[in-house]
Amino acid sequence: MTIDDSPSPMMGEKIDILLEYNIPAIFFSIGEHMEAFPGAMLDALKNGFVIGNHSYSHPHFSDLSNAEMKNEVLKTEKIINDLYAESGIERRTKYFRFPYGDKGDGLRGRYPSFWRKQDKAKKKEFQNFLQESGFQKPPKLDPCYHFYKKAFLDQDIDWHWTFDTLDYDNTRSDSFILERLSSEKANNPLVSKRPKEYWLSAGEHPEIILIHDHEDSHDRFLAIIKTLIQQDLDFQTMEFAR
Ligand SMILES: [Zn+2]
Repeated sequence: MTIDDSPSPMMGEKIDILLEYNIPAIFFSIGEHMEAFPGAMLDALKNGFVIGNHSYSHPHFSDLSNAEMKNEVLKTEKIINDLYAESGIERRTKYFRFPYGDKGDGLRGRYPSFWRKQDKAKKKEFQNFLQESGFQKPPKLDPCYHFYKKAFLDQDIDWHWTFDTLDYDNTRSDSFILERLSSEKANNPLVSKRPKEYWLSAGEHPEIILIHDHEDSHDRFLAIIKTLIQQDLDFQTMEFAR
């Protein structure tokens, strides 16, 4: 489970519900937000959650120079390191996720339809920077994720997702959001014609689930978590990734 854009003013409630259902998570957090609500971040750390780097001001990295991209990461690193030090946790594994999944390569997170527009050199330089800075890539996933493999996301140091809950998408109904999480629906021949990526592959293979810590979609977050815990899922800590 990966939760983006923390902390919102509702983060404390999210921590409570994740603890109640025993769901470990990485909070990919924004530097500016962490400066505003450091208390929620410390609570998360003390309760065993992991803080990942999600940039300082959440820009589209394709709009930035390499130096600006690095600055977004390093400024946030300092905030996260200070939080770990303050919470007394000595061991930290570093994880990074791009805002909007935009790797700075001009694709702006749109895979792979705009493939020809990719600035491969800019992408490579930044991936090298992430690696040299000690960021750890996601665990190896089996090769069933068509879009993930096709865009070579499995080779990157940053954490893309394999399943986007679309919790932030106000054009979608709650029932649309929730039906994609249910293996029961996925196995129903009447609706199973949708592409495989449409459904959360409960029990079949591992997923990196994307959800957000947004104040205005907090109720939806709770509904998604309550639906997920009814599925046959095993929520993993990141230990297996090392
Ligand atoms: Zn984000």
